[in-house]
Amino acid sequence: MRDYLLFCNYCSTYTLLHGYDKESGNFLGEYSLLLNDYTRSNVVLNKFILAHLGHTLRAIPSKTDEYMNVICTASHFLEDDIDKYVEESLEKLKFQERDRKSEREIGRVQIHIIEHLLKHDLELLANTRSGSSAEGQVLLGKELGIKQSLEVIRKVKADPQFA
Ligand SMILES: [Zn+2]
Repeated sequence: MRDYLLFCNYCSTYTLLHGYDKESGNFLGEYSLLLNDYTRSNVVLNKFILAHLGHTLRAIPSKTDEYMNVICTASHFLEDDIDKYVEESLEKLKFQERDRKSEREIGRVQIHIIEHLLKHDLELLANTRSGSSAEGQVLLGKELGIKQSLEVIRKVKADPQFA
């Protein structure tokens, strides 16, 4: 994978974008040796853009003389804070993952509650005796409706995404 950096000629400062992740549409971002990971966000890139408003910025690909030249001679933007930014960014990703998990958990609980209520209704219907045949038809219709709903729930619960 090709790496990139963004360079401000005016300030002789650069920030490392590293590889471009097609799936997320983001650059991997700055890398922390301490944490052995990337920011996986635009946090440092955005700060770099804001710090160099009005300056001419150039994106430079790796494996070029220019790339090596910039890394060897220019100053690395926020170099001393990169560990901190990577740590914060990874922490944020962890929280988002936790949020997603708890939302799914709530969804599962709701499905179980609906299922329970429908089964309860079905039991009530089974214990209801119909007076006339017209009433019997209505009860039968209700019973079928509930059974169809329970079938939908069964399918949802059987879906691997539900687990
Ligand atoms: Zn600048």
